[in-house]
Amino acid sequence: MITDINALTLANSYHSLGPDFYDPVAPTPISSPYLVAFNPDVAKLLNLDPAVAEQPEFAEYFTGNRTLNGSQPLAMRYTGHQFGQYNPDIGDGRAILLGEARGADGQIWDLHLKGAGRTAYARVFDGRAVLRSSIREYLCGEAMHGLGIPTTRSLCITGSDDPVRRETIETAAMLVRVAQSHVRFGSFEALFDAEETENLRRLADYVIDRHFPHLKEAEDRYKQWLREVVERTARLMADWQAVGFVHGVMNTDNMSILGLTLDYGPYGFMEEFNPGMVFNHSDPMGRYAYDRQPGIGLWNLQVLTVALSPLIPRQESADIVAGFVPVYEELYLDRMRQKLGLREKRDEDAALVQQLLGIMAELRLDYTIFFRNLSDFQVKSQSGSAAHPVDTRPEFTEWRAAYRSRLKKENSVDPFRKSVMDRVNPRYILRSYMAQIAIQKAVEERDYTEIERFRQLLATPFDEHPEMADYAGEPPEWGRHIDLSCSS
Ligand code: AMP
Ligand code: MG
Repeated sequence: MITDINALTLANSYHSLGPDFYDPVAPTPISSPYLVAFNPDVAKLLNLDPAVAEQPEFAEYFTGNRTLNGSQPLAMRYTGHQFGQYNPDIGDGRAILLGEARGADGQIWDLHLKGAGRTAYARVFDGRAVLRSSIREYLCGEAMHGLGIPTTRSLCITGSDDPVRRETIETAAMLVRVAQSHVRFGSFEALFDAEETENLRRLADYVIDRHFPHLKEAEDRYKQWLREVVERTARLMADWQAVGFVHGVMNTDNMSILGLTLDYGPYGFMEEFNPGMVFNHSDPMGRYAYDRQPGIGLWNLQVLTVALSPLIPRQESADIVAGFVPVYEELYLDRMRQKLGLREKRDEDAALVQQLLGIMAELRLDYTIFFRNLSDFQVKSQSGSAAHPVDTRPEFTEWRAAYRSRLKKENSVDPFRKSVMDRVNPRYILRSYMAQIAIQKAVEERDYTEIERFRQLLATPFDEHPEMADYAGEPPEWGRHIDLSCSS
């Protein structure tokens, strides 16, 4: 384990691809940086002793004031479809890949410094990130990880008093984002659009070598790789839908080639169940509404197949991508069965799920609370209690009976079912108002303790945390409809 941050040495496999794939650029430091948040769990992944955070140099390294050993910083080249339109002018405008760290288990991790200053892809923007959005990304990465959903995570947030102009003047921050890869669908789109077929092949080979090594020798490796990308994307969509997560900006430049949740902007976990829920204030058409996410996942994969067409003939990739729908549907239904505590698979299950979601939407029930409390349902007790399992309202009469008879068919045992359900239905999610509390304390009082409290809570969202019980309930009135824009 590395006990001195000065001894951390980075590798640069992405840099070795050559400058067609990025723009070499060093971070532009922010003044007098300080540590806002530090994640010991991610430090351990990186084989870092969490005590390194106490070294005065730590914040200097992760704001670009000092350069880590071996680091060859760069901004990654990519393009992408934003809200359905191709944009050839994107790329890492403000995030800089510092290099790759090796974990104790040999796993390689990208260290990506977000908010590190302008790059060749910054267009008219300032290259910065504000504290508010850095906290939101930091907490949500941990929340998703705690829920078992593939995601980027963060090592730390560093801050500065340097002003950054958004709707108002805010202060600058940088996030050290950690992922096995930051390659996106858009990384391939950029090379396809520029007709750089040899580079396209090199990037595909690089991704396969590093992240899909079992396919390396396969003759049809590109097709097999695409099949796995389709499956991972379907799995991610099923994970999001089952937990009620809305990404908010599913542009192809935000779609990870590894099927990770990537780029947390105006995201949200649904509270009142509403299939058409949109979290992004800048998405009036609801392109990225909750119930459209799986379809957009598929659309984005189709865009990827166009980019990969020099490697995989369109007819063949179309067949592979057609596999998305059945894989997604099966995975989603599996997750919903688990949420209902069903062990067996039966044909009637899809209808049972759909009926329930219909009632929940009609009554605008809190998605997380409903499922968590459902584990107290008793097969033999005839009606729901006031506190819920299952809700006494007439809308539920029929469904409750159907659920009971379905549980009886597999001889479901109440306490066993409950213990399994409580490992699937979280008690805690990152509600928008929770992030807001952490942000307010940080911005207004320089108090960062709430960030750390929520990080710990969300790392184990299935456990009871009596001292945090308030956050398991519905949000307070002020926290119900927090407006989120793309501004970050
Ligand atoms: P996003 O919506 O966060 O995925 O960003 C889309 C594109 O805009 C990416 O290429 C970002 O690098 C770029 N971008 C967003 N904000 C900034 C900023 N403040 N400075 C430079 N580039 C930015
Ligand atoms: Mg992005």
